[in-house]
Amino acid sequence: MARVSAYDDFTPLAVEATARVFVLTGAGISAESGIQTFRDAGGLWEQHRVEDVASPEGWAKDPSMVWRFYSLRRAQAATVAPNAAHTALAALEHRIGERLFLCTQNVDPLHERGGSRRVVHMHGELLKSRCERNHAAPFDDPATYPEPGDRLPRCGCGARIRPHICWFGEIPFHLDTAHEALARATLFVTIGSSGAVYPAAGFVRMAREAGARTVYVGPEAPDNASAFDECRLGRATEVVPPLFRVA
Ligand code: NAD
Repeated sequence: MARVSAYDDFTPLAVEATARVFVLTGAGISAESGIQTFRDAGGLWEQHRVEDVASPEGWAKDPSMVWRFYSLRRAQAATVAPNAAHTALAALEHRIGERLFLCTQNVDPLHERGGSRRVVHMHGELLKSRCERNHAAPFDDPATYPEPGDRLPRCGCGARIRPHICWFGEIPFHLDTAHEALARATLFVTIGSSGAVYPAAGFVRMAREAGARTVYVGPEAPDNASAFDECRLGRATEVVPPLFRVA
């Protein structure tokens, strides 16, 4: 059973010279940068369920609506800045290099803007697009297609260009690399994720089976709290900067 308590009831996490740290971040780490979490938004966008927009079915039914949804998010991404939790993780990478595996469910670019160099985006990246038939690798694309009736982008092969996002019902990216890192982790930390979206919500159990200490950070215990050794309650910007003590 997890020990659940206010973050300042705990001592910092010692990161020894041989430690391998797996950090999984969710929407909560970007909340204080002004990006709404899925839960805060009530799971809705303009009366549509997000699942109906961010899905292969939504794309098949109304690609203009899907592009409008992501265009608004791209426009917002231009206005937001990383917070102290993002920069603290970049500082940790600076100290321990590839012994940190930073995996995010977020599609925003705030880890990179905070200075992280190696970020695994398991749900894709808001500022990238790709050919829907995978004829071209994902490419940087900050363009917006906000107006219904705008011409939507096409690949040279004739297929449509889609956002490089893992939609509901699709398989996340980089799972093999993440699983390898989980098997080697000695410390597993989730920051700001409700523990409701799989497979990411199952990572904690994999890390635990591999022998890692497991820690959750966020203002409330997540749905999968029982799989953690500790839940350190608090906002990401107050908990993360003093969280790691590197030996
Ligand atoms: P979620 O919305 O289901 O849960 C957010 C979690 O963040 C909650 O547990 C909440 O308690 C916590 N939280 C809220 N404020 C916080 C703070 N200041 N500090 C720390 N934690 C805080 O998000 P999820 O678990 O990441 O899963 C929802 C899905 O929607 C994921 O696929 C996610 O990537 C996607 N999403 C991404 C973004 C983004 O890219 N920024 C935003 C919204 C949703």
